[in-house]
Amino acid sequence: MTLSPSELSRYHRHLALPELGRGGQERLKSARVVVIGAGGLGSPAALYLAAAGVGTLGLVDCDRVEISNLQRQVLFDSAAVGRLKTEAARERLLALNPEISVVAHTLTLRAQNVLEVLRGYDLVLDGTDRLTTRYLVNDACVLLGKPLVSAAIHRFEGHAMTYLPGRGPCYRCLFPAAEEGVVASCAEAGVLGVLPGVLGAIQATEAVKILTGIGEPIVGRLVTYDALELRFLELPVTRRADCAVCGEHPTITAPRDAGEVCDPAALSQVRRLSATALRDLLASEPTAGGLALIDVREPHEFNTRHLLDARNIPLADLPRRLGELPAGRMPVFLCRSGRRSLTACALAVRAGIGTPAHLEGGLLAWAAAVDPQFDVAAG
Ligand SMILES: [Zn+2]
Repeated sequence: MTLSPSELSRYHRHLALPELGRGGQERLKSARVVVIGAGGLGSPAALYLAAAGVGTLGLVDCDRVEISNLQRQVLFDSAAVGRLKTEAARERLLALNPEISVVAHTLTLRAQNVLEVLRGYDLVLDGTDRLTTRYLVNDACVLLGKPLVSAAIHRFEGHAMTYLPGRGPCYRCLFPAAEEGVVASCAEAGVLGVLPGVLGAIQATEAVKILTGIGEPIVGRLVTYDALELRFLELPVTRRADCAVCGEHPTITAPRDAGEVCDPAALSQVRRLSATALRDLLASEPTAGGLALIDVREPHEFNTRHLLDARNIPLADLPRRLGELPAGRMPVFLCRSGRRSLTACALAVRAGIGTPAHLEGGLLAWAAAVDPQFDVAAG
């Protein structure tokens, strides 16, 4: 694909980079990238990819723009409230760069349509906030052999990782948690508006690098970002031979829909403990004996540092190990940021286990409010 005179002017600063050059820009022009979710992550990612000259951009989203989206979803302006995100985003991206094509997929990805949607693209950028969709997209990318750039955000922190077929671990190698098909995605957590800007820009960077063949992608490297500390960390991740989708003997050989724990009644039975409230409970002798601290992080995270008396049951194992929760004691689920522990609560409620509690904000909150020496960074 050759570049027109107007494109040569538009992409001048790319062409001035010898590493990228005209060949790289032509590769971007012929590339087809699909962005899953036109939200906080998808907004900056799609804007930068459109500006960079990715020839065909697909956008998958079924929602309409809400006023509360505007705090972070920079694709949209106030006039777009009430419109379909795919349509408003398409207009915005074409206004930014009329040289490209933007394809709106106004739908919810499901097991029966995910392969069909993703098949037409060279690279998938996942910006969904739904865990079920994230696993669905991961599995579809592994099955189709498509590169996938994932990112997720929560409150003040986020992470990103790239999957390249045959080269490294997939998202499920890292977090096998949806293995049981039950995940929570409806928890209404806050998020710092600028946070997805950082992670979405990282995703766009990865996409441009992979498409043009420059640099080193974050394959097998989970990059975590903590906005409050302004700190990036890297966690090496290896492919799991027993991964359900990319492992030696995969049990997932076709996309499948996972059930979701999105039952407000179930979550209303959950007791949310702040770090200081948990500290006070643990300090009061009679109550402490009535608590069972269950740390639902992965063993490598647990082994780095954990609360005294906490017991490790990784979230993925919890559904079949619920029987191990001590009878007559209130389970208090713990994890790094409070997301997995909330899922654990939902599982416990569904299994009829009284009123479980979780540590709101996770061990990060514990480190911030109670014990500055508590090191959860490596997890
Ligand atoms: Zn895997």
